[in-house]
Amino acid sequence: MAKVLYLDENVCIGCETCTRISPRVFHMVSEHKAGILDPKGDRIEKIEEAMDNCPVACITWDD
Ligand code: SF4
Repeated sequence: MAKVLYLDENVCIGCETCTRISPRVFHMVSEHKAGILDPKGDRIEKIEEAMDNCPVACITWDD
């Protein structure tokens, strides 16, 4: 089954790390919250780099 990218906005602290690592996939939806702009906007490795560097681990594969 295809992996679905999930970002838990309730947990996100808005540090902007994911948007710096993969700006075509993640964007800031408000000053303190990130969201998913385009789940297919970057290579899997780059998306997983963003996941690994999220300080609250709120970006996951929901499969
Ligand atoms: S890296 Fe995690 S905590 Fe930081 S903005 Fe992205 S989703 Fe939110």
